[in-house]
Amino acid sequence: MPTDFRGSALRVEEHLRALARCSASPSGITRLYLTPEHRAANGLVSGWMQEAGLEPRVDETGTVIGRREGSDPSLPPILLGSHIDTVVNAGAYDGCLGVACAVEAARVLAREGATLRHPLEVAGFGEEEGVRFGVTFLGSRGIAGTWTPDLYEAKDREGVSVRSAMRSFGLDPDAVPRAAHRIAAYFEFHIEQGPNLAASGVPFGIVAGIAAAKRFRVTFTGKTGHAGMTPMAGRRDALCAASEFVLEAEEEAKRIGRGAVATVGDLVVTPGVTNCIPEAVTLTLDARAGTDEDLEELLSRLFDRSRASAARRSVALERDCYYSSKAVACSEALKEILRSSVREMGFEPPEMFSMAGHDAAAIGEKYPVAMAFVRDAGIGHSPKEHCDAEDVARTVELTVRAVRAADAILP
Ligand SMILES: [Zn+2]
Repeated sequence: MPTDFRGSALRVEEHLRALARCSASPSGITRLYLTPEHRAANGLVSGWMQEAGLEPRVDETGTVIGRREGSDPSLPPILLGSHIDTVVNAGAYDGCLGVACAVEAARVLAREGATLRHPLEVAGFGEEEGVRFGVTFLGSRGIAGTWTPDLYEAKDREGVSVRSAMRSFGLDPDAVPRAAHRIAAYFEFHIEQGPNLAASGVPFGIVAGIAAAKRFRVTFTGKTGHAGMTPMAGRRDALCAASEFVLEAEEEAKRIGRGAVATVGDLVVTPGVTNCIPEAVTLTLDARAGTDEDLEELLSRLFDRSRASAARRSVALERDCYYSSKAVACSEALKEILRSSVREMGFEPPEMFSMAGHDAAAIGEKYPVAMAFVRDAGIGHSPKEHCDAEDVARTVELTVRAVRAADAILP
């Protein structure tokens, strides 16, 4: 472990354990947006920011932000961050690793007496995961200034809207546009939540971009009949057509390659009875690819094929796209900063697409962003995710190096 950052790793791990206790569930971590647990987490992070020489505040969307001024007041800040909301039954590292390491990096820079030209900001965003309200990146979209009117009306399971939850949390929903501000660069360090880095034996991967993603509800409609008395010839079995679709999705994602993925995760059969031919099937398709072009090619090939195979069975296919996000490319200049920093630390980082959404995608719509994945020694999106202490120390070191390099290079 790099000696200088051993103490940093201990402090980050202590902070992650403390954040993990801000949870609505006793086992695993459940910390949703605008809840008492979120408020407690904001309070903890604010305290650490203060100790790290950052001036903390909670912005108009509930994001906790700490700021240290730079020497040139005309420059926009270098922003570090990630999210502090979680999925249900989460692990301690998702999002929080990036926030805790960023606060620690600010502390190291302050202790070293580093003079930066740019202001330095660290953000802990809320509702990245979209678990409470089903809409994602509310904190980071606040900073990017890309909130849309529909976001205020999104509701949780109890029917509470974002607007009314904000009021209960002490926020003014009409003030959200004031959260937006100009940014020189955004860096996010996030646990990989996948096995690639652990398999390749390097602590970091440079994110080339955040994947384009689309989700569909696909309905196959055929004709039911008695399972015994209807001959095989001439059947219009909706589940047989849907089954072809499941395998065609797998094949077309593999054919595109370059990290493209397609998943049918949910499938409902009607009438769903042992001795009836399936009349209708509704399934979900989640498809993602590194570029918008790859995703469009995957989807057009898949739906051309599946329409033809459904038609051979006289089964109708209808699709409804209910979620769509475009690919966001990371900044070449910022990626180069991360790549050369990792090389200076003695590793050759692979470049990889992020097939999951991150705050960097929301901020990347407006400002230059870069992101590094940190090796996951456990299982992502579960209490089993884990970063070794050496990798935590390296993440703090990489954050410090990235801030110094960006401050020197950026206009
Ligand atoms: Zn995350």
